[in-house]
Amino acid sequence: MYYIIIRNGKILDGTGGPSFYADIAVKDGKIAKVSKIIRESAEREIDARGLTVTPGFIDSHSHNDSWVLLQPLQKEKIEQGITTSIGGQCGGSPAPYSGSREKAEQVGEFGLECDIYKDMSTFLSIARTVPQGANSMVLVGHNSIRDAVMGNAFRAPTEEELEKMKAFVRDAMEAGALGLSFGLGYNPGCYSEVPEMSALAKVAAEYGGVVTAHIRNEGDNVAAAVKEFLQVLRESGARGVVSHLKSSDREENWGKVHNLMRLIDEANAEGLDVYADVYPYNAYNTSLLPIFGTIEFRANSHDVMLEELKKPEVRAALRKRNVERYGREDLDWVQLNTIANAPQYEGKRMSEVAAMMGKEDHYDALFDLLILNDLKGMACYFGISDDDVCAIMGYERAMIGTDSGVGRPTLRKYHPRLRGSFPRVLGRYVREKGACTLPEMIRKMTSMPAAVYSLDTKGLIKVNMDADICIFDENKIIDGATFVDCTLKNEGLNYVIVGGKIAAVDGEATGEKGGRVITREL
Ligand SMILES: [Zn+2]
Repeated sequence: MYYIIIRNGKILDGTGGPSFYADIAVKDGKIAKVSKIIRESAEREIDARGLTVTPGFIDSHSHNDSWVLLQPLQKEKIEQGITTSIGGQCGGSPAPYSGSREKAEQVGEFGLECDIYKDMSTFLSIARTVPQGANSMVLVGHNSIRDAVMGNAFRAPTEEELEKMKAFVRDAMEAGALGLSFGLGYNPGCYSEVPEMSALAKVAAEYGGVVTAHIRNEGDNVAAAVKEFLQVLRESGARGVVSHLKSSDREENWGKVHNLMRLIDEANAEGLDVYADVYPYNAYNTSLLPIFGTIEFRANSHDVMLEELKKPEVRAALRKRNVERYGREDLDWVQLNTIANAPQYEGKRMSEVAAMMGKEDHYDALFDLLILNDLKGMACYFGISDDDVCAIMGYERAMIGTDSGVGRPTLRKYHPRLRGSFPRVLGRYVREKGACTLPEMIRKMTSMPAAVYSLDTKGLIKVNMDADICIFDENKIIDGATFVDCTLKNEGLNYVIVGGKIAAVDGEATGEKGGRVITREL
């Protein structure tokens, strides 16, 4: 007897090929049969008449990371159809733990022992035992490694330090991490150069690992930043992914994405193996300090930065650099997320915050806010062109990601991509804007990331593949979450099945956990 039979559905099997009608039987967490009509019965019968059945979605760019231990249900993932996430992106991974103040606070917030984060093998050995709502995999982050070995040093590593960093990559790869991620916009990765990056990427490549990069610049110098990453791939021989492809900062940079896609195509023609990922919004989301503090400013200690930020001459210099970089005097394009020490400003644009503070200049308000909030705080930045997003959605080498983890209990305001990314792509970019055909988009959400990250049993509706399945109404599926209210639910997503268990029905998690933290086939 089968556990689940899905009957009468229109199947898009993940290959990008045309749809067909068939029944699907699920048993022991696997797809056991795909046939025109299945005559046997099952414990759970799902009538998918009028609905589309696809492989479960793969979140190619996630920040699940440490959250797999604290919030293993991964509600925000399964309620948007994500059955597997690729975490540890943008240079940040749950391990190794550096002993830094920021990391200590984060670990303390989890109520967990710092020791389990000391290296990736220790972390994975524990994380693998915790049942999950969806599957999660992890890359090891260069920033986490560099922080553990060199702290926030603004210099190249010594030979000894480089060897220590390589050992962390090796430990992670031998424990089953998928590869290595760079976060060159963040500390301390922003202080590294190509020789260091290539040396570490080479270690990941020896194990067949993938190397991803949040590149050094996503504005005026975005083409040079892509080229720098391609150089690392060339020198290391690793397969690569350019993270959250975009050209932003000033509006003058919009449209440069066409050149970036051409650079990636040329690299592939040359023999490299390079991809990109993208999320479906016109705003990015990150901490305030990496956006508005220069890499020189951020080389200071936390306490020195707090003192410096009070000085009028420091403020004037930072303001000048940012006005040039972002091409405008105002900060109306910045909307604050959760601000722990000043919740009255949450969800507000910086223009409103400045008015509430009685400040004429938005930057004055921003610097005051950073001091008030101990240099922390995240925001959504409306700096991306929707035409660019559409163009990348249609790019054959672009996969889809949320660029999000799961919701922390303390999270009040956040970017809607946390909950709405995949339904939004299908509803707004495929159905409404026609940025890509549905079969092709399903491929970019399923078999393509499965191939890039070597997930051999995922991404296809086929006998013996893992029973990770989405069932939705292609005429109705749409995101709910907005920049005003990121908690609103998606619509038109009828069932999400993870590892043969029904993880969500009508966009609501059932509480069943069919997933786990999985490691690369060793
Ligand atoms: Zn990033």
